[in-house]
Amino acid sequence: MNFDLNRLVRENIKNLKPYSSARSEYSGAANIFLDANENSFGSPLTKWYNRYPDPLQQEVKKKISVIKNIKSEHIVLGNGSDECIDLIIRAFCNPKEDNIIICPPTYGMYEVYAHINDVPLKQVPLLSHFNLDLEALENSIDEKTKIIFLCSPNNPTGNNLNREDIETVLTNFDGLVVLDEAYINYSRHRSFIADLNEYPNLVILQTLSKAWGLASLRLGMLFSSEAIVAVLNTIKPPYNISGATQELVVKALDNVEEVNNMIVETVKERAHLAEILAQLPFVQTVYPSDANFILVKMDNASAIYDILKSKGIIVRNRSTVILCQDCLRITVGTAEQNKQLIETLQEHKQEYV
Ligand SMILES: *Cc1c(COP(=O)(O)O)cnc(C)c1O
Repeated sequence: MNFDLNRLVRENIKNLKPYSSARSEYSGAANIFLDANENSFGSPLTKWYNRYPDPLQQEVKKKISVIKNIKSEHIVLGNGSDECIDLIIRAFCNPKEDNIIICPPTYGMYEVYAHINDVPLKQVPLLSHFNLDLEALENSIDEKTKIIFLCSPNNPTGNNLNREDIETVLTNFDGLVVLDEAYINYSRHRSFIADLNEYPNLVILQTLSKAWGLASLRLGMLFSSEAIVAVLNTIKPPYNISGATQELVVKALDNVEEVNNMIVETVKERAHLAEILAQLPFVQTVYPSDANFILVKMDNASAIYDILKSKGIIVRNRSTVILCQDCLRITVGTAEQNKQLIETLQEHKQEYV
């Protein structure tokens, strides 16, 4: 594998002179800031919301860097990891020319952002047990393939991809491998963050939206080489993470223990839910999960989806997705929520037999 970042970056991005914001031109201490056309009189909220936030989110990154054991220079923060997905595609893929590979069934946003950016998409479905089809993957790579998106644990299937398979792709592909670890906190596998130094083509995505319980704040984390981080920082919107989000996230990141407790609870409930679901007569397969949801194949999933909906319980109907025929994706709830879900399904069982 001959990795050459310079070959991968789009010409227009290489030549870009990024917007220089007031706060990036001067970020030191001063008494009077009259450089950014902010409202000098204040804001209708107390505090300092009249001021533009730190474009590089240094306080937030400092905390993340301790928790994840990686330097700030290896981190990009996005308005959700969805923004990171878009940034990567825009930095590296020439519309109508370069292509991206995804391995469905997987997270839908890779495809959406490929289409938005008018970048051709190749699909290499997972094998029947939801692992990578390495041979098909290798055959579908061509000289215009810039990015392969992998998701582990995968959404909506819940399983980890084989670690050796991910390593094989990283070793053999000379484009970027984006590894989405949105659910890594629930997984028995460890993150690839510790392996970043070995793979110059690796881009890892994580998020505060799942285990950290902060979906509303919109904070996605990207970890990669300093060189890739530098490219993405030149094209990201200068103030992509709001001051309110930065402030709240800095506080939230002090509560690692509370988050760990929620993860332990979730994993416990996941095992319990999986066990009970498997006993329902109309359930065919409860797929093993390393995430905070379970994919379940059942007789007539759409009918069961409707029954649950009519009782005010909403799950995700994945019936029309490749390899997920008759599957519902069920997020692990609290003990009480899971109890209600199960009771509703058991009532249905009586109608069914
Ligand atoms: C939920 C999820 C995300 C998170 O997206 P955010 O924009 O950070 O909320 C990313 N990837 C996958 C696979 C997900 O399921």
